[in-house]
Amino acid sequence: MIMSSNSYRESLEKLRRKVYIQGAAVADPMAHPLVRPSTNAVAQTFALERQEQYKELIFARSHLSGRPINRFTHIHRSTEDLMNKVRLQRLLGQRTGTCFQRCVGLDALNALEITTFEMEQDLGIPYHHRFNKFLQQVQDENAVCGGAMTDPKGDRSKRPHEQADPDLYLRITGENSEGITVRGAKCHQTGALNSQYIIVMPTLAMREEDKDYAVSFAVQADAPGLLYILGRQPSDTRKQEIHRADIGNRDFGGQESLIIFDDLFVPWERVFICREHRYTGRLVERFAGYHRQSYGGCKAGVGDVLIGAAAALAELQGVDKAAHIRDKLVEMVHLNETLFCCGIACSARGRASSSGAYLIDLLLANVCKLNVTRFPYEIARLAEDIAGGLMATMPSLADLEHPQLGPLLRKYFQGIAGVESTCRLKMLRLVENLTLGPAAAAYLTESMHGAGSPQAQRVVIARQADLAHKKMLARRLAGLEGESS
Ligand code: SF4
Ligand code: FE
Repeated sequence: MIMSSNSYRESLEKLRRKVYIQGAAVADPMAHPLVRPSTNAVAQTFALERQEQYKELIFARSHLSGRPINRFTHIHRSTEDLMNKVRLQRLLGQRTGTCFQRCVGLDALNALEITTFEMEQDLGIPYHHRFNKFLQQVQDENAVCGGAMTDPKGDRSKRPHEQADPDLYLRITGENSEGITVRGAKCHQTGALNSQYIIVMPTLAMREEDKDYAVSFAVQADAPGLLYILGRQPSDTRKQEIHRADIGNRDFGGQESLIIFDDLFVPWERVFICREHRYTGRLVERFAGYHRQSYGGCKAGVGDVLIGAAAALAELQGVDKAAHIRDKLVEMVHLNETLFCCGIACSARGRASSSGAYLIDLLLANVCKLNVTRFPYEIARLAEDIAGGLMATMPSLADLEHPQLGPLLRKYFQGIAGVESTCRLKMLRLVENLTLGPAAAAYLTESMHGAGSPQAQRVVIARQADLAHKKMLARRLAGLEGESS
C-alpha cells in the first residue's frame, strides 16, 4: 500500500500517544503549530511518489517482494542504490530547507538487516527471520520509522551498569515467554512524532557486564509505555504566530523529541537483539556509517537553499557584481559540493555485506560527516556576511501590513530599484531561519552532533586509516625497506 501525503497524515492522527509540548499534554500533536511543519517535511517523501520526474529516485524494488517501494523503506542492493539515496536526500533538502526526518529509520533498517543476518547465522536464533517480517510490514505499509539510538548517558566516564541511576541507558528490565520489558530514554529523536514505528538500538558497543543494555527492537509508535516530550528549537514560537512570514520557511520544519520508555513491553517477534552484546558494536558502527553518509545528501540540499538565498540577496541589495561577494558564493558552493562528493564517494565505494545488503565505505562516510561538522558553519557564516545585519534587526513582516508602517518599511528597506522591498525582507527571514532560527537546529547543531559528535568520527577514521600501510609506502620510496622504524 503506497500512502499519499494525506493518508500518511491521517495514519498519524489515528495513533493514540502520550505527547507533551511546552508543559501540556497534547491529544492531537499533528495539529500543533510546532509539529505541523515537521510533518509537512516528512510528507514530501510521499509527495515525490506522484511526480513522474522523480519516480526513479523515490522508488526502489523490494528484495523481499519484488514490488516497487518507497526508497525510504528499501534495503540497498547496489552502489547505485546507495548513491540514489544520497541524491534523493539532496533533493528533499532542497525542497524542504530542513531535516525531513525519514532517513534515521531507513538507516536503522539497513544496519539491522545486516546485523540480524549475521546473528541468525552465528547463533541460530531467528533474528533475521523476525526482522524480515517487520521489514515486509514496513515496506507494505510504506511506514515511517524513527531510529532511536542516543541514550541520556549520565556520567560519561562510567559504563552503563556503573551509572548511579541504571536507567540512564535503556535496558531490559524483565523477560517472559511473550517478550521483554524495557526502561530508559532516547534523546533528541528526529521525527519521533511523525513516525509510525520506533526502532530502538543501543547507543554504544556493550560489554558482558552491560548485557542488559544490549537490546534492539521495534514497537508501534503508540505502544503503551511510551511518552514523548517535544524538544525546542531556536525561535520555535514564531511558528505559533499568526503572521507566518516571520518564520522564514513558511511550510517546513524539523522536529526532535525525548522518548521515555516506561517498562514498555516488546513481544519477541519484534526483538532483534536481546543481551547478545557482541553484536552491538557492529550495529552501532553500521547505523552511524549510514547516517554519516546521509548527511552528504541532506545537508548539501539545505546548503543549496542557503547559497541560493545569499545569491538572491546579493542581487536584491545590488552587490552581486562585487568580486568579494562572487568569491564568497564560490567558496560556499565549493564547501557544499565537497559534502556531496563525500556522500557519493562513500556510496560508490560501498560493498555487499554477507546478507547481500550494500554497506557504505566506512572511512569515507566518516570523513563525510567530519566535514559536515564544519562546512555548514562556514557556509552559514558567509551567508550572514552577504545578508548583512538587517537579517537580525528588522521589524516583523506583520508591520508591512500596517497602514502607516507598511509604506515606511517599504520605503526605507528598499534595495535595488524596481523590486518590491518585501522580496528582500522575506529572503532575509529565510537566511535567519537557516542560520539562527529553527532550521539552524537541523543545519548547524545537528551537523555537529547528529549521527555522532566529531570525536566519534575521529575514532573511526583513526581505526580505518591504516597508517601501517602508509608508512610502508613511505619506507619503500625512502629506501628503508627492511629497516626497522
Ligand atoms: Fe535525514 Fe538529514 Fe534529517 Fe538525518 S538530518 S534525518 S539525514 S534529513
Ligand atoms: Fe540526523
